[in-house]
Amino acid sequence: MSWFREKLYTHVQQAFEIKRELHKGRTPFQAVTVFENPMLGRVLTLDGICQTTEADEFVYHEMMTHVPILAHGRATRVLIVGGGDGGILRETLRHRRVKRAVMVEIDGEVVELCRRHLPSLSAGAFEDRRAELVVGDGAQFMASTDERFDVMIIDSTDPMGPGEVLFRDAFYRNCKRCLKADGIVVTQNGVPFFQREEFFSTGRARAKLFGHSGFYFAAVPTYYGGHMAMGWASPGRDITAVSLATLKRRFAAARLKTRYYNPEMHLAAFARPNYLKSAKG
Ligand code: SAM
Repeated sequence: MSWFREKLYTHVQQAFEIKRELHKGRTPFQAVTVFENPMLGRVLTLDGICQTTEADEFVYHEMMTHVPILAHGRATRVLIVGGGDGGILRETLRHRRVKRAVMVEIDGEVVELCRRHLPSLSAGAFEDRRAELVVGDGAQFMASTDERFDVMIIDSTDPMGPGEVLFRDAFYRNCKRCLKADGIVVTQNGVPFFQREEFFSTGRARAKLFGHSGFYFAAVPTYYGGHMAMGWASPGRDITAVSLATLKRRFAAARLKTRYYNPEMHLAAFARPNYLKSAKG
């Protein structure tokens, strides 16, 4: 029996049995493996870190997508940075009001491998005429585009390797530049129990730049170490002020069939444990 051992942290690891290996190799940006596990289904890892699994991807992709889009209420133009597996793009395009979804992914080989080995994640989203895939660095795109977006979803790897630039102040400044005044950006912000510095430093950076910012949380089983944080920010909108009644109305109108997201979970996700309360934003 062989095992995948995730070495994201120095003194603790998680391990998944590899029942069948489907791909193992390197792209110009990172090491990529795809394998099957009896409990998780197919698993994607990049540089030895679990990115997504068929079994629990719905938690992360629903919460990273429906919280900002339903909090916004009228989003038509969405930008996704990263998201190579296609899960965020799939969830974004379920909103009929979205007219354009641009996905900027640095590694085209990850997209191809996921379309081949993890097709349920994108589920045809790349063929949707509203979608545009740009293969390139998200930081460079954000620094140069003259498009403006209602919602931005930064679905990146952790702040190492190609993902590191997506956690810098300069990137957040450019996010603000490309957001409409009532736009919302959300970011994959790690597991604060183990990635405390990332949590606090990115919170400070966004609080300095945006009128409103904060975090919400979801329990993603294979992002181990407790709740996963999702950072959010907006120049002009406090997304925690959207009422349950409004969310229920928007959720019903969107006619989404979800497995994790619902308006009550949306609102509850903003509650913060005491050990994280002192974080800015
Ligand atoms: N849900 C996962 C998580 O929370 O860690 C992330 C999944 S997704 C596979 C992460 C994607 O970010 C990868 O496909 C990677 O290639 C992409 N990525 C990393 N750095 C990037 C950059 N600078 N610009 C665009 N995409 C980037």
